[in-house]
Amino acid sequence: MNADDIYTRVPTDMEDWLARLDLRMTIGGRDAPAGATGTVVHACTERPIARYPDADAGHVDAAVRVAAAAFPAWAATPWGERRACLERFADALRTQSDTLALIVAAEAGRPLRRAWGEVAFSADYVRMIAGQRLPDKAYRRAGLHAVLKHRPLGVVGAIAPWNGPVILAIAKIANALIAGDTLILRPSPFTPLSALYLGRMARDIFPAGVLNVITGDASVGAAMTTHPGIAKISFTGSTATGKRIAAAAAPTLKRLTLELGGNDAAIVLADADPAAVAETVYRISLENAGQFCAAIKRLYVHESLYDSVRDAIVRRAGAAVAGSCFRPETTMTPVQNRAQFDRVWSLFDDAVAGGGRVAVGGERHRGEGLFIPPTLVEGVGAGVRLVDEEQFGPVLPIIAFRDEAAAIAQANCGPYGLGGSIWTRDVDRGLALAERLDAGTGWVNQHGAFTAALPMPFAGESGIGMDYAEYGVAEHSQAMLINALLPSSADQR
Ligand code: NAD
Repeated sequence: MNADDIYTRVPTDMEDWLARLDLRMTIGGRDAPAGATGTVVHACTERPIARYPDADAGHVDAAVRVAAAAFPAWAATPWGERRACLERFADALRTQSDTLALIVAAEAGRPLRRAWGEVAFSADYVRMIAGQRLPDKAYRRAGLHAVLKHRPLGVVGAIAPWNGPVILAIAKIANALIAGDTLILRPSPFTPLSALYLGRMARDIFPAGVLNVITGDASVGAAMTTHPGIAKISFTGSTATGKRIAAAAAPTLKRLTLELGGNDAAIVLADADPAAVAETVYRISLENAGQFCAAIKRLYVHESLYDSVRDAIVRRAGAAVAGSCFRPETTMTPVQNRAQFDRVWSLFDDAVAGGGRVAVGGERHRGEGLFIPPTLVEGVGAGVRLVDEEQFGPVLPIIAFRDEAAAIAQANCGPYGLGGSIWTRDVDRGLALAERLDAGTGWVNQHGAFTAALPMPFAGESGIGMDYAEYGVAEHSQAMLINALLPSSADQR
């Protein structure tokens, strides 16, 4: 199956098709019944498309019990066997990619082709992380044998957002399971279906209790953050929720990986290629309705290049085709949920009230669905909410600058520190300026480019810890130093 073939497989009645999947929670390798259910709404229509099991505190306890019971055997399983299981999971993601992509498109309101790409990327991600083995590190001194080792940590609670329902769940699963931990995944209640499907897939691959999936509202996530049986919370979501989780996890001193919000700036120097800038801005900040943590969220352009960059983005945005996730010609789909939709419009309205001018987009959609057109706002700057806050939607401020140092200072304003980029034909200059950004990642002539093989650090209020490459696995491990006094030196005392 490939990204385009999948359009021939779209069910005629998506609601019926999802109901027939009969998705249930996975606790201890089997179906876990739930008395209550919640509703999944499809963003293109704002109509309910599926129901999901709504867990309670009893489900959290049950999941912790089975995950804790499965932990000793999984932790003792040789690394190569854990790797082989994860590689089978990656294979299953590939073979199930059409079904998973249809589920993601339905629940996240994402173009089907893009949903398929997320699943394919996730399969590659699992394979890459499955190959990570943390080496022991020996510290050699006369008479001493000191070695730093990495041991499994225990039960990990994974809490995910709605904007990348498969990849953001998969990243947590792969890191924890290769480290020897067991895991309870609790996806966003906006996008719970793909996670339920992942839980079902895992039953044939991992021993019972190693990977559990429960669904429910924020109270389920909150119950995980205070549960004494959970050693670590691996969280992706907003900075505000991340702070609440850190506070809730403090009494049990859980390990934390927090991947939070961002307000990434791109700085376009006078010698940059306007077409390359416009293409990236469109692809990562506008096309996916801006719902990407490391999208460019503020665009600073040298005054000499400002018109050509703005005009190139306006042309690209003008060609967007809004419509159903399930039609091949669609490139632009809605914002995932009503709260986010209202927030993005409120930032837009505030910017226009503050003197912002609309270069493209900005029209309210009259039909059904949570569509916001790709929108570029000029004439705004620091002090306007659209510039100071994370919009997480397809409305982007573009700001002219004359002085490079002032642009860097502007980019470094605010509490976030996810990423930033410099655009220039002079790569050495770009590299030097990128190092001056207060961010986890400084890109040159690209932005938001992640691969499982490279680390993803978080700075400022964009998070705590590091993900990807061997670092995500290290974050899911307990470091331990073995330090022995050797007999010969003991004899000499
Ligand atoms: P959110 O913070 O509203 O919710 C995230 C998850 O936390 C959801 O599953 C939610 O139900 C749960 N939750 C809410 N309150 C909780 C509590 N008190 N205890 C435990 N869990 C709780 O975020 P969102 O709107 O789902 O996602 C968008 C945000 O995620 C944006 O800010 C975006 O930048 C960020 N994000 C960051 C990264 C990254 O890698 N840094 C990646 C993707 C998204």
